[in-house]
Amino acid sequence: MGIIIKSDEEIAAMRQAGRITATVLEVLKLQVRPGMKTKELDVIAARELERLGAKPSFKGYQGFPANLCISVNDEIVHGIPGERILAEGDIVSLDIGAIFMGFQGDAATTVGVGKISPQAKQLIEATEGALKAGIAAAHPGARLGDISAAIQYYAESRGYSVVREYTGHGIGREMHEEPQIPNFGLPGTGPMLKKGVTLALEPMVNAGDWRTRVGDDHWTVLTADGSLSAHFEHTIAITDGEPEVLTIV
Ligand code: MG
Repeated sequence: MGIIIKSDEEIAAMRQAGRITATVLEVLKLQVRPGMKTKELDVIAARELERLGAKPSFKGYQGFPANLCISVNDEIVHGIPGERILAEGDIVSLDIGAIFMGFQGDAATTVGVGKISPQAKQLIEATEGALKAGIAAAHPGARLGDISAAIQYYAESRGYSVVREYTGHGIGREMHEEPQIPNFGLPGTGPMLKKGVTLALEPMVNAGDWRTRVGDDHWTVLTADGSLSAHFEHTIAITDGEPEVLTIV
């Protein structure tokens, strides 16, 4: 099928899906606090998506049972909201997708629960920085590998590793379109970026080794060495000039 170029009208619809996605994520971030069960955030996500007239992208996707993914501490991605109680000092990755007017938005952020360690804070900042570095590389005429390399360099030069077995992705009418976007790679390689390409960039950055394992629930992905992990994601559109972040409020 290849990379699907979106028209201006399609980008306009994706802008709305992105704004809804970002709005729900902002609401969720403000609700995170010690002593709450992660499933409480799922209830809020469902309520907010419905209020905004959107459908959850994740619920039912390959059987995923919830409206968002919540991944705590050494959990990287795809954690299922449930009975787990958040504790002071935890870091929590929230990943949510919304469908609106037939288009998808996909975004993630990592936040601290109460007061967190300086090490956890640095990891979160480095992961957000890696996403920004990837976005900054998303210019027309650049190659996909330029984005991957920018993310990798930003994270690794700060002493972290990037997860290799899970990637960012093209996005549009489908949550996962071509191309896959690894968070590591070589500049000047891969398909050329052009106006109308829409991508979900999502660095997953580990404090320790990049290797992963899947938990007993067959969904949650964790660091193999038990180290902390953070995750940031934006849906973006390649334009004639600066990339446009679609998942903003
Ligand atoms: Mg994604």
